[in-house]
Amino acid sequence: MTEKVHRYKAYTLRNFLQIKQLIKLTRAEIRDLEVAGNVLPFRVNNYVVDELIDWDNYREDPIFNLTFPRKEMLTTEHFTLMDSTLREHGDPDVINQIRQIIYDRLNPHPAGQLDLNIPEVNGKTLHGVQHKYRETVLFFPSAGQTCHSYCTFCFRWPQFVGIDNLKLATNESEMLAAYVQKNQDITDVLFTGGDPMIMNYKTFERYIDPILRIYKTCGLQTIRIGTKSLAYWPYKFTSDDQADDFIRLFEKIVKTGINLAFMAHFSHPRELETRAVEQAIRRLRATGAQIRTQSPILRHINDKPEIWSAMWRKQVNLNCIPYYMFIARDTGAKHYFELPLVEAWEIYRHAYQNVSGVCRTVRGPSMSCTPGKVQILGVSETGTEKIMVLRFIQGRNPDWVAKPFFARYDPEATWMNELKPAYGEKFFYEDELESLYKRKTADSEQFNFE
Ligand SMILES: *Cc1c(COP(=O)(O)O)cnc(C)c1O
Repeated sequence: MTEKVHRYKAYTLRNFLQIKQLIKLTRAEIRDLEVAGNVLPFRVNNYVVDELIDWDNYREDPIFNLTFPRKEMLTTEHFTLMDSTLREHGDPDVINQIRQIIYDRLNPHPAGQLDLNIPEVNGKTLHGVQHKYRETVLFFPSAGQTCHSYCTFCFRWPQFVGIDNLKLATNESEMLAAYVQKNQDITDVLFTGGDPMIMNYKTFERYIDPILRIYKTCGLQTIRIGTKSLAYWPYKFTSDDQADDFIRLFEKIVKTGINLAFMAHFSHPRELETRAVEQAIRRLRATGAQIRTQSPILRHINDKPEIWSAMWRKQVNLNCIPYYMFIARDTGAKHYFELPLVEAWEIYRHAYQNVSGVCRTVRGPSMSCTPGKVQILGVSETGTEKIMVLRFIQGRNPDWVAKPFFARYDPEATWMNELKPAYGEKFFYEDELESLYKRKTADSEQFNFE
């Protein structure tokens, strides 16, 4: 493609004062950013800064809130602690220690998500692979453990390392291919991260190749790539040096007969408005790949029905398929971003009512918790009582899927573990879930996580 070259430039705590638009911030706001950025994820790039954020209205700007840590995202206690630590110590070790103490308070089980579902091949553990649902394995390639820009609500990022190592890529991918071949029920491999599209071409290809080689002898139908790159760095698919190589590889995957699906993370319609993202989507779609879209619903970013209906409509107009609306996990700066489940459903339903059927491929709001993906179907009434109607979109046991079940109405609950069954002592799946996991963990706290 003959396109202007766009050089990727990342800004972090080390160099963020080079962002010229920050001149609009007050000195106090810059200080707040520095303090919050020492706790929360902070990495943003020139595309996000120059093309996505409306700097005339940055305080209310959804993309600013999505990428720039703010004082309000921390509790007063944590903010004050980091603020005074930075004032009193230039010593990076002390700052790191305090940061670690705050992390531990924000997310008590950073690793628990993976521990419950790690599979084995020939007695060897497959680190970076999670097999929770029969048809689909999640794969976290070591070389894809970072992103083009960080979302302030993300809490995977303290684990980001981003090792781009060809040998590691081959080993990991061959283990995965062996596992997929052994488990003929697996139809989908989902590359996730971080962001797999952070990888350079050679490394990415190393990950894909072994899977293409075994494709004919296993149950595989779909390769999915979970990515925020269309929103944060669309040039990956247009003007970057290796863009054409990637496009050719995607074409090759599709030609092999595999369904290639980009699970694109878009949080706001703004991210779909630039020429760059339109071109990137067009180029990806021309390879024969599908693009399906998903995002969590977040306070201060997208907590209005008009935002979601506009976003789904734009996505469909660009030939993307709306897929999931998620409830954000109960970690990180949750008090800033969270919404009650009932309010999330109200936003979902009003947005859904305002788009035509072609946009209604979206499902939500959905929580990924230990038993599965639970969708809030809505609030209903049984004579005198309000109840919440739920169902599994995905279940630890596939037989749980698509059976409505009921919780007591709770307009304040923000996550599954706060809901109580409307009838009886337990939700219908609880005994079975407990026996599935009795051997794995004695700690019921873990049940809030994947
Ligand atoms: C969401 C998810 C998947 C994919 O589920 P689909 O409903 O097929 O999109 C796979 N594994 C885990 C752990 C998930 O959370």
